[in-house]
Amino acid sequence: MKHPRSKKSQLITILGILVSALLASYLMIALHDRVAAPAYQPEPVQDAVTPEITEEEPEQVEVQKPVTAISTWPVALNDEQASSLTVVVNKKHRLPPDYVPTLKSVSGGQMRPEAADALAQLLTGADAAGLSIKIVSSYRSYSTQTSVYNNYVKQHGQAEADTFSARPGHSEHQTGLAVDLGNTNGSCQLETCFGDSAAGQWLAAHAQDYGFIIRYEKGKDAITGYQYEPWHLRFVGVSVAKAVVALGKTLDEYYGVPAGDYQ
Ligand SMILES: [Zn+2]
Repeated sequence: MKHPRSKKSQLITILGILVSALLASYLMIALHDRVAAPAYQPEPVQDAVTPEITEEEPEQVEVQKPVTAISTWPVALNDEQASSLTVVVNKKHRLPPDYVPTLKSVSGGQMRPEAADALAQLLTGADAAGLSIKIVSSYRSYSTQTSVYNNYVKQHGQAEADTFSARPGHSEHQTGLAVDLGNTNGSCQLETCFGDSAAGQWLAAHAQDYGFIIRYEKGKDAITGYQYEPWHLRFVGVSVAKAVVALGKTLDEYYGVPAGDYQ
């Protein structure tokens, strides 16, 4: 009571220290999150995540914002991200031009060893079910994809080509984890009617048991950025494949990774 001004300034000083401490801890959390966050490999999103908002720690809401919320696409993945078995490559995430995975031969094709072994088992399984399935296309290098894409652009124009062919760096085939399959007799090759064939139906039902998913499902064009491709399988491992199928999500949705168009 004797020194009201002094008490007031003490209070201001204490408040200042408290605010500074809060800001410092927020910055540390934010920086740690930025460094530690495995970009584009977030935890599987099983359900919608609703950040808890509490009056005591409003800064937590800020920290929980997705690290992928940026405005400039596409994002260039690094070699470590590119070599993950669950890497998400789409129109917003591209591989390094010089990225070449370790490859292993399988039935006339080449894939990452894990995917090649799984595909060999899948083909054995299909054979046991009385089906004759062949590899149409497996690993494709950046330069091969450049030729493939440019040819389609010449034939169809870029806008249409973008709906079914990936721009160089954006193809899952460059990861060595994707494969296009077809009937050995060539019927419905790389056509949507493959999905109605016995082989296509068997793949839709059993690919997950071998660690593969149909990457571009029917009706998911706006999410994946591509038309329905019943022949394009992507290896992600058995547990992820089964979870993705059970949830009825695309790989992009499963990992909560931005997808859709290039921009
Ligand atoms: Zn494909």
